[in-house]
Amino acid sequence: MIPNNFEYVRAGSVQEAVSLLSQHGEDAKLLAGGHSLIPAMKFRLSAPSTLIDVSGISEFSGIKKNGDRLEIGAFVTHRTVEFSDEVKNSCGVLAEAASQIGDPLVRNRGTLGGSLAHADPAADYPALVLALAAEIHVSGKSGSRSIAADDFFTGLFETALSDGEIITKVSFPVLDKGVGAAYEKFPHPASRFAVVGVAVMLTIAGGKCSAARVAVTGAAATAFRATDVETALTGNSPDESTISDATAKVADSNDLLSDLFASANYRAHLCSVLAKRALLRAAERAR
Ligand SMILES: Cc1cc2nc3c(=O)[nH]c(=O)nc-3n(C[C@H](O)[C@H](O)[C@H](O)COP(=O)(O)OP(=O)(O)OC[C@H]3O[C@@H](n4cnc5c(N)ncnc54)[C@H](O)[C@@H]3O)c2cc1C
Repeated sequence: MIPNNFEYVRAGSVQEAVSLLSQHGEDAKLLAGGHSLIPAMKFRLSAPSTLIDVSGISEFSGIKKNGDRLEIGAFVTHRTVEFSDEVKNSCGVLAEAASQIGDPLVRNRGTLGGSLAHADPAADYPALVLALAAEIHVSGKSGSRSIAADDFFTGLFETALSDGEIITKVSFPVLDKGVGAAYEKFPHPASRFAVVGVAVMLTIAGGKCSAARVAVTGAAATAFRATDVETALTGNSPDESTISDATAKVADSNDLLSDLFASANYRAHLCSVLAKRALLRAAERAR
């Protein structure tokens, strides 16, 4: 439970962190809240030669509404998201989800950027960014770019981030009238990680669902969208029977994880139950 030796440096800005990453090479890692990286280092699953601490960087540690988008800095902690009035008023489902992450210690230290970069298959935010069609903004030595959430998670603990790139902020839609979102999670009783979590965003116009996004975390190697459910809902009235039919099969158990906590069949069942609950709540909120 003792990590390998490493060097520690503190970055004062994103630009400095980018140049420290390039200076220290591929064995260097960013340290944000440390609530995924430090446990991995203690188990010697990760052995960076240098830690570049980005937790004190003040740029990108705030939350602000920018037109019809809500921008959350990468270094914002889960606790800040949980209690932010701006988040509650603009995209309340994020505050609800953040309140279900781990325990108070984890929420006080863990950050939005750290969670997305780590891409744990059982983390909560991956389902949220997919369902909400978030844009993930990054900076690196070749400049800045934004990555659509749909393109961000590429595999187990793998993302579309290139070497040396840092997540700076994430932009979410402000949920207007007619749009409802919800997150339902079956937490592991010890860690609170999602055995399965389902996030949804529904747009309702004239009593019919004009757009639906349904995303699942915890169930497979990476979070994914349940596109068959989305198609079944679009153009139809989001009533209980339509939602029940659409969520009868959210995922094929052949594609799901099976472990000590839950078999693939049980995870498939949870996907259906949680998707139905989340969609019913989102439909209520959109009305
Ligand atoms: C007991 C326990 C319970 C937990 N329960 C949950 C849970 O229920 N749900 C959940 O979602 N998570 C849970 N977590 C994980 C927690 O949310 C982590 O804090 C989070 O996943 C990582 O964020 P961090 O800021 O701590 O990142 P760190 O651990 O500091 O970093 C994680 C990885 O991301 C990289 N990184 C960090 N910031 C950036 C950035 N801005 N740009 C690019 N790369 C970056 C680091 O180099 C590292 O590789 C739990 C953790 C623990 C220890």
